[in-house]
Amino acid sequence: MCLTFGSVSAQNRSSGGSFIYLLRPDRVFDGETVHAGWVVLVKGDKIEAVGRPAEVNSAGAEVIDLKGMTLMPGLIEGHSHLLLHPYNETAWDDQVLREARSLRVARATVHAQKTLLAGFTTVRDLGTEGADYDDVGLKQAIDQGIIPGPRMIVATRALIATGSYAPKGFSPDIEVPQGAEEADGHDRLIQAVRRQIGKGADVVKVYADYRWGLMAEARPTYTLDELKLIVETAKSSGRPVVAHAGTAEGMRRAILAGCETLEHGDAGTPEIFALMKQQNTALCPTLAAGDAVSQYRGWKKGTDPEPERIRQKRLTFRQALDAGVTICFGGDVGVFAHGDNARELEMMVDYGMKPLEVLRSATAVNADVFHLTDRGRIRPGLLADLVAVTGDPIQTITQVRQVRLVMKGGNLYKR
Ligand SMILES: [Zn+2]
Repeated sequence: MCLTFGSVSAQNRSSGGSFIYLLRPDRVFDGETVHAGWVVLVKGDKIEAVGRPAEVNSAGAEVIDLKGMTLMPGLIEGHSHLLLHPYNETAWDDQVLREARSLRVARATVHAQKTLLAGFTTVRDLGTEGADYDDVGLKQAIDQGIIPGPRMIVATRALIATGSYAPKGFSPDIEVPQGAEEADGHDRLIQAVRRQIGKGADVVKVYADYRWGLMAEARPTYTLDELKLIVETAKSSGRPVVAHAGTAEGMRRAILAGCETLEHGDAGTPEIFALMKQQNTALCPTLAAGDAVSQYRGWKKGTDPEPERIRQKRLTFRQALDAGVTICFGGDVGVFAHGDNARELEMMVDYGMKPLEVLRSATAVNADVFHLTDRGRIRPGLLADLVAVTGDPIQTITQVRQVRLVMKGGNLYKR
């Protein structure tokens, strides 16, 4: 049964948010380890207690029987773009150039709902891709209970070096809209970072490299000093900086500048991953995005041999794992369909991680890396963001798609 959001929020409002639920699954994955036979007590918007049935006082609670299921913390998507939709529907250039902002926001509200109902109760949304500050209003609409959706960490416009991230193929005589905010040099970078924070950015995203100009290859954009300035400016307000970085040199500069996570990292090397480990920089590998784009370009997955790009990605991801780099779960969802976030989880297993490590990455690890101390684990006092799936995803990762219950802040969105 899928309850409508309005009725759920009204129900909880009328009860003053004091609903008490006792969740009884076969097992609890608490964000770190698995406990067979445990139960979880939810009171209001928080987890009240967790443990063996005899240890949990469930007086007055409504029992929700989750027989045959695994209960987990709500999953945390580390790299989404709720304002994008799959590129095989509409190319990125055309989304930026031809779609009205109102159209993009209307779609984003549906994307938010699909994400939540798939069990992802938090997203780190890394840039509106030409839709200015529309992620801020989307986040407010969710937080105010106007539309259902995940809790959002937003990056707003993101920062790019002049000319580096835009729809391609136009005459140099024409000014086309960019995919993010252009800013360079000392004063303009400080202003841009502060403006984005002032308008709502929880995190500052910077493109440390990109394919730009007439060259087909990605190249570093910002200098090390510019990246350091961005990090210093953001950090003084308590905001982390994350970097899109695919080239080894772009990654190196972003790591040394103090960016906390690197997105993609496709051309990383053993030396770069050793530096990431040393500097405690996390990698958000976005395996599913490259996989999707390769298929959009004609690769018949499962039939054709893997293209060079995919073989290379498998190799560098393996190198990152071998170096002991912290791996964030984040798929760059939006390149592929919202609600299909589990695709990245499955690919992390396919590319060499154990399902238990993958589930930790999507819960406790992402919470730690994103400084979210109120979620990501099933522990008393944390937010009651919970998801139940049939079977045991620690044995078979594909079970994460079999979502039967979604709770966010003690409200049931799917039951
Ligand atoms: Zn992205």
